[in-house]
Parts: sequence; C-alpha cells; structure tokens
Amino acid sequence: MKERQSPLKSACSIKYAPVPEIIACPKCKEEIELWSDEDEAACHSCGYVFLKDKAGNQSC
Ligand SMILES: [Zn+2]
Repeated sequence: MKERQSPLKSACSIKYAPVPEIIACPKCKEEIELWSDEDEAACHSCGYVFLKDKAGNQSC
C-alpha cells in the first residue's frame, strides 16, 4: 500500500509542483504570492521582502 501524497505542506515534499501561497504583507497588508519553490517574495506594493523560514528543512 502506498502512502498518500498530501497537497498541503509536507515535511518531505518534493519540489516538482510549486504552489503559490498567499500571505499578508506585515507592512502594508497587501497580498504577497509566495511560491513553494521560492525562498522569498517581494511585496509589489511597498517592496517588503518576505523570507521563508527554512529551519528544520533538512531533516528528511
Ligand atoms: Zn507591502
């Protein structure tokens, strides 16, 4: 029996299917599109750069 692959965040996710995650800019509350295969995303409104927290990402 095979394990089911969750479309949501997985600690052991593979990178072939990036998905956008909408986050709110902490500065101007504008929506920022953060792609799962990107480490950072810049707010197109105020220029704030959101950095993804990659802590513990190597445990797999
Ligand atoms: Zn912003």
